[in-house]
Formats: sequence, structure tokens, C-alpha cells
Amino acid sequence: MEDYISVDKASKTHRKNAALGRDVDPSSLKTILVVEDNMINRTLLSKMLSGQYTVLEAGNGQDALEMLHEHGDEISAVLLDLVMPVMDGYAVLEVMQTNERYRNLPVVVTTGSSHHDSERRALSLGAWDFVTKPYDAEIILFRLKNVIERSQLTAFKQLKYLSEYDALTGLYNKTKFFDATRKLLDANCHESFVFLRFDVDRFQLINSFFGTAEGDKLLVYIARELAVDAKQYSKASYGRIESDIVALCVPYHPVQLEEMVRQSKKTLALFNVNYDIVPSIGIYVIDDPAISIEEMYNRATLAAKTCKGNYVDFYAYYNESMSIALNKEQEITNEMNFALEHGQFEIYLQPKYNIHTNLPCGAEALVRWMHPQKGMLSPGEFIPVFERNGFITKLDYYVWEQACKCLHNWVAQGIRPYPISVNVSRVNIYNPNLVEMLMELLGRYQLEPGLLNLELTESAYTDNPAAMKKTMAQLQSHGFIILMDDFGSGYSSLSLLKDIMIDILKIDMRFLSASEFAGRGENIIASVIRMAKWLNIPVVAEGAETVEQVDFLRSVGCDYVQGYYYARPMQISDYEQLCINFSLDMQMRIDQKYDSYCYDDLFSQNEEMKSLFPNHLQAAVICEYYADKIELVRVNEAYYALVGHGDVMTKSANILDMLDEAYQATLLRAFHLCVQTLEPGECEYMRRRTNGTPLWIGAKLRYISTVGNKHILIVELTDITMRKAIDTELQKYKEYMEFHLEGAGNHEDE
Ligand code: C2E
Ligand code: MG
Ligand code: MG
Repeated sequence: MEDYISVDKASKTHRKNAALGRDVDPSSLKTILVVEDNMINRTLLSKMLSGQYTVLEAGNGQDALEMLHEHGDEISAVLLDLVMPVMDGYAVLEVMQTNERYRNLPVVVTTGSSHHDSERRALSLGAWDFVTKPYDAEIILFRLKNVIERSQLTAFKQLKYLSEYDALTGLYNKTKFFDATRKLLDANCHESFVFLRFDVDRFQLINSFFGTAEGDKLLVYIARELAVDAKQYSKASYGRIESDIVALCVPYHPVQLEEMVRQSKKTLALFNVNYDIVPSIGIYVIDDPAISIEEMYNRATLAAKTCKGNYVDFYAYYNESMSIALNKEQEITNEMNFALEHGQFEIYLQPKYNIHTNLPCGAEALVRWMHPQKGMLSPGEFIPVFERNGFITKLDYYVWEQACKCLHNWVAQGIRPYPISVNVSRVNIYNPNLVEMLMELLGRYQLEPGLLNLELTESAYTDNPAAMKKTMAQLQSHGFIILMDDFGSGYSSLSLLKDIMIDILKIDMRFLSASEFAGRGENIIASVIRMAKWLNIPVVAEGAETVEQVDFLRSVGCDYVQGYYYARPMQISDYEQLCINFSLDMQMRIDQKYDSYCYDDLFSQNEEMKSLFPNHLQAAVICEYYADKIELVRVNEAYYALVGHGDVMTKSANILDMLDEAYQATLLRAFHLCVQTLEPGECEYMRRRTNGTPLWIGAKLRYISTVGNKHILIVELTDITMRKAIDTELQKYKEYMEFHLEGAGNHEDE
């Protein structure tokens, strides 16, 4: 009976709301889930609510959970009967309480008359409110409205918390921390403050070696220590910026600050003594409180970057020059697109030389920025910026295309050019279209892949071995030759050689020879070259500037050199002069004059000394002749047989030093004549073996080429000691006979 009164009231409410509902968009209504096994009651409740709410209905607890599962995110509140078959309301409450998704969903329970026990139990299980039967529509609507508002407030508070605090560490997040810091500085404008930015070196490694759980633990540890640091000050603000970066702003007391910074390194190390955790700390002493907190953070970041990866100097103070560098970077970024579109980037070619012939055998394309105001900029000034802002992929492509154009032009002129190698930036290792782009270029310019060699830097392998391996394999399968640039500069050289089939190694004299221990750098270079020889990988040594360095490289078996000693990077036209004409000219001369020699074999990098002059038992040497000096560049096995194996002369020593003055002159004369006339020449001279006995040599000289002031000659050597001895004997005999014949004649005449 009472139910009917309620129905009446409800329908009134319904009508009222229906009238109001003219301008209520039904899709904007909140949704209420009504859980009630009694169909009449359920219909009644639905009627009361419809108009203000969209109503979903469930006949028991289980159905209710299914609906929650399906529509949980749309439901604003649940009206839940407690006593039901299959699954009662208490069980529903229990499930909702343990499920994160529904914990904040308000539940109003419906109980028969006033059953305090059941109300108490329902409230203890997380029910928000209750209504008793018979239902009063207005009361139900009020109670629902209240709980929904309350839950929204809770959600709002949660959102607010989430928008201000970092969920993992409980520290202020970046926005809130910046806000708090601004307020702190504004409220204490007569005090001086310092801003610190703190992160962990190679934090990613901790995540990948020990798992993200361990990484998270470390972050919580750091947050706790940061709070401890902050408590040492009467005022402070601190927060987590992102990932492993936290920041702190406190009053500036230099001594206390240094102490805190040093202590923080020790504290961090204590987190786990089994691995070395080192912070990088950037410090900005706030000299201009008017700048934005973002800018203060940027300044501390700039400072931190200068000490990244540095175990000893793990903290650094910001200074203005760092900002200047940043501004410069910004300027480069602003100008780069325009520069590319307007042809301000130009490629230079630096020849690579065969160290045995001193002849060019290829080149590396190196980019230059011809800046209309600043003049020529070297890659060191802009490539790192382009690598950071991603522009490098565009520039790389531009350089590749220029190199292809160059090669195409030469081929079109009937020249067989040496290959050009281009740099492939580390960013491109991840470019899924890399192979396609390069193949497209080769196709467009009708080039063999062997002509466009690719230089990939070792550090890219260190960054991501798997990606590098994959990219290289793809490129090689299309016929590209890969040079490993800056080999030996990273930490993974050995594993790289083990894992990747490299075609050519490039080592850089500049950082391999830079050692405070005399000779150590050279030992490393020699070992790398030897190792490469074992693996049959040719080596190009980069950065050789002096004759001593080149001699050294030659002496340890290096085959190719790219360095200022031979040539600096030059404009394409200069390279053409040097190389293309030269090589044609050279080739013709060799073909005409020395076709008995297989010139390529003679100097081929794959041929060791022993296999030099494969068809000749004849001892032979390659010499450089300049400034009245004759230096051995390369000798063959037969040479050793000639002079004796114990009598190996240091290569590149002046061979004239071993000769008596008279023979020095003989040899020099012969060399001089050969170079003057370009015709083969001959001479005989004597040198002594190590045991002091004389060794007479017949030398046949052939001119090969001139590089700079050096003339290159091949000299075939024959042991003529025996002939000389016979000659001497014959001479003696002749003299004797002449003497006696003369005597006899005189006698006869007498
Ligand atoms: P890299 O690829 O190792 O190039 C060799 C660098 O060593 C060049 O510097 C070259 O001029 C220099 N060099 C060669 N011989 C000597 C020497 O005897 N003494 C000295 N002091 N230096 C020598 P550059 O042209 O300044 O290029 C520097 C780096 O910039 C290159 O190192 C390369 O990593 C990068 N780079 C240059 N051009 C490009 C490019 O087109 N794309 C990409 N991604 N990187 C490039
Ligand atoms: Mg390179
Ligand atoms: Mg290099």
C-alpha cells in the first residue's frame, strides 16, 4: 500500500522533471544502476529516477557486477538492495571495495524499514548512504544527488593531487614545484637562493640491468633523501621534474651547499653498494630572481650537462657561457632549414691514400656550411645540434645525394671513379627507410652500391647494438660497403668486431694516440691494425698529420691513410684535379711502361709482404726519393733472401746511410736521372752485410709517380757480388797480363 503512495509521489517527481526535461539532453544525464530483485520495486525506482537520470537495472548482485564490469565508467551511483537471491548486496559491496575501479563509486543501499544491523554492516562495507522502504522519491533523489556530488569532490581532490604530486615519489611534480618555487622566491626577495637539478648518470642502465622495480626503488630513495636535504633549510621547495630528474631550491649558503652536494653523492652510493650510482648535479646560483623558474631549471640543466658521465666532477655551477652556447644552438636551429633550401651546405672531399703507393684511392664526403655572415662552419659546430633536433636525417640525405651526383658526373665522363664514403649519422640507424632511400639514390644516379661507401660510427653501435647489427646487415645485403668510423673510441670495439661483419675499419690517430703514457697509444694502434689484419679487414687511419705518424702507420702494416699529411678536405673541383686526372694519367703510364707488373697486386692491401711480386723471384723494393734521401716503403720476400733475414733494415730509414760516400753518390745519380728522364735506369753499388762482408747490388730503377715532393720508384735488386768478385779477379788477371804482355813486348822490342 505504502508503495503506491510512493509511486504517486515518484510519478509526480517524474512529471516535474519531465517538464524540466525539455531542455535536458538525455545523453548528458548521469547514470544510476538500480539493483533490486523485486521487479515491482525496481520498476518503481526506475520511474522515480528517469527524467533526472538514465537508469540501468539489475535483478541480483551477479547481474549488477556484470553491468558494472561493462558500464562501470558511465555509472555515477548505485542504488543497491541488500537482500537478493544469487548474490546479495553485501557481497556486491565487498567486491566493489576491493576493486580499484569502483572504490569511489557511491553506493546507496536500500533496506527494509529500519534494520540498523544491516545498515551498520553495509556502511562498514563501504556503502555511502542508505534509504529505507517504502521509498520516498524526493529523499532518494536528494540522497543520490548528495553522494554523487561528494564522489565528484573526492575525484576532484584526487585529480588535484595527481595534478600536483608525483604518484611514485609523492614529491611535487614539475608544475607544482615551479609554482611553489616562484612563491618561495617572491616571498623572500631579499634573500639569495640557489637552484639545483639532480639526476642519476645512466639511470636507464639501472632500469635495464636490474629492472624497473629497482629503478623505482632508487627514485623513491632519492626523493626521501631530497626531503632530508630540504629539511636542513628553513625554507625550501623541491620536486620531481621527470624520470630520474629532481630539483631543489634553497637559500644559498656556499659552504653548506657544497657539503650537501658532496654528501648527496655518498648517500646515493649507499643505495646499493654493488653498483656504482653517480649523480650529475647542475647548480644555478640565482643571480636574477626575475627570470622564470623554467629558465632557472634550464640553466641548472646546462650546468648538469657539462658534468654528465664525469665521476669526479659530478657537479657544476652554471655560468653565462653555457647560455651563450644554448643561444648559438637555437640560432643554428632557426637557420638550418633555410640554409638547406638555399644551398648553403657544400660537400668537401678528403682523399684517402694508399700508404704504399702514396696515391689517392677514394675520398670521404665532409659537409661544410657556407654561412653568408659567419663564413665557413665546420661540422663540429652544427652536426651535434642537428643530431639533437633531428635535422641530421635531412642533411645526411642531402650529402648522400651530392656525393651521388658527383660520382654520376664522373661516370658520365667515362672516368672510373674511386668510391666516396658518406657519413650515416647515428640517428639514421633507426630510420626504417634507410635502405630504401639509399637504393633509390643509387637507382636515380645509376651507380653501383660499391661506389657509395657508408661510414657508421662506433658509438652508434654502443648505443644500440641490435639496431646497428640489423641495419648493417640490410645495407650489406644490398652491396654497400660499410666503414666503421672512429673505431676504438667507444667501449664496445671488441664485441663489435665479434658481432658485426665490418668491411673496413677507420681508426682515428687523434684519440688513439692521445695517451699520457709514452708509446701506449701507438701500441694500441698497432694492435688494432694487427687484429684487423687477422680478420682480413682493411684499416684506414684517420688524422695522420706528420711524416712520423705516416711512417709509423706504414711500419705497423696500415694500408690506407686519410689525414692532413696527404691532403685536407677540399672542394670537389680540387679533388677532381688531384685524383681523377691523376689516376687516368697514372694508369696510362703504368699500362704503357710496366705492363709486366700487375700494379694492383703490387700494392693490394690484401697482399702481405711475402706475396708481393708474386711472379718474381726478383728482390724488389718500393722507394720514396726526395731531398737527397731514399727511403724504403715496401719490400718483398726476395729482398729478405737477398740481404739476409737478420739484416732487415728499418723501413723508412734512409738507405743511403748504409753506404759509403762513393756509392751514395752512385745511387743518388741513378735515381736523379731516372726521375729526370722518366726512363728506366741502372747502377751498381756495394753495401756491407751485418757480418761485414761486402754485398754488391745491381739495381734497376723504374719511375712510378710523384706525390708532392716525393718520387716513387720501384727498384729491382740483384746480388752481383759473385760477378763483382769474378770481375775483380778478371781485372786483376787483366792487369797482370797487361803488365806481363807489356813487359814481354818491351823485352821483344828491346
Ligand atoms: P669523421 O667522419 O671522423 O671525419 C673525419 C674528420 O677528421 C673530418 O673533420 C676531417 O676533416 C678530420 N681530419 C681528417 N684528417 C685530419 C688530420 O690529419 N688532422 C685533423 N686535425 N683532422 C683531420 P670534419 O670535416 O670537421 O668532420 C668532423 C665530423 O663531423 C666527422 O668525423 C663526422 O662525424 C661529422 N660529419 C662531417 N660531415 C658529415 C656529414 O655529412 N654527415 C654526418 N652525419 N656527419 C658528418
Ligand atoms: Mg666519417
Ligand atoms: Mg672518423
